[in-house]
Amino acid sequence: MNYCFCMIHVALEHNNASAFSSSSVPMEILRDYTEPHIQPRYDAAIETVSLPEDAIETIAHFQDKIARYLFEISCLSGLSDWLSRKTLPSHFFKYFQKAVNLYDESCQYFIGQLRRQGFSVRCEPGCAHCCCHMPTGISTPELIYLYYGMHQSGVFSRFFRRCLEAEEQWREVLKTYSDPAFCDESASIRESVLRSYHRLKHDCPFLQERLCQIYPYRPIVCRMHFSLSSPHWCNPFHFQNEHAVRFNLEPGEKIFEALQHLENRLRLKVSDIMVCGLLELSVNIMKFDEINWIN
Ligand code: SF4
Repeated sequence: MNYCFCMIHVALEHNNASAFSSSSVPMEILRDYTEPHIQPRYDAAIETVSLPEDAIETIAHFQDKIARYLFEISCLSGLSDWLSRKTLPSHFFKYFQKAVNLYDESCQYFIGQLRRQGFSVRCEPGCAHCCCHMPTGISTPELIYLYYGMHQSGVFSRFFRRCLEAEEQWREVLKTYSDPAFCDESASIRESVLRSYHRLKHDCPFLQERLCQIYPYRPIVCRMHFSLSSPHWCNPFHFQNEHAVRFNLEPGEKIFEALQHLENRLRLKVSDIMVCGLLELSVNIMKFDEINWIN
């Protein structure tokens, strides 16, 4: 049985009209990271890896457990009207934390399996090339978890300011491509947007001294990216970049479904570009207030 490496999906949706909204620009342009100059190179040798049957079962077990935690959250009372009270059951936080920790554990398990087959993951603290140059996708439950993390950091306003700057840059890029002149059949708008954003060399607002400042609260998409080649090669401007061998460990269909189910229960639709979603949540919905957790 083979386990396939998949691509990160950064889905963009139309936003509700609000103080922070990106609905005036074409948002259906991004579905994944397939822009030719940005796409990680997949070495034919690792495109599919044969895992022993018991390892496949263990990974499936991880996925079931993660999905179960997320469904548990969906079943909690007090979700449908949480927006009016800015209050959530404390089990939301506990189960979500368990789910993301389990996801990290499942990635480590998979990496251990790779090691047995002679592939060694070379990612290390301080190497943050995957935190730069690309917009980060996020779901609503992750956004809430991250918003809580921003408050926990004690420097909410600093992060907020940096998100504002990042959103402005993102908006500028999108504005360019809402011009009909760019509706050229020869080039996909999505690819052009990604390429332009990429050229800005803009770090994630949460990156400081090459370290993620909200690491325990980071979105799933930030947890799934790995490199088998030298971390330096991940720098898009490194001369060996085109030879870098990277892969993403997607959480799997069940987990996406569970996240979607939870998102529906929360009745909150904001941008799924991290910085845009955070601004909408902070300004329009939470009005900078902290989330109240109740037992
Ligand atoms: S949230 Fe953290 S891990 Fe994710 S891109 Fe930003 S700095 Fe990197």
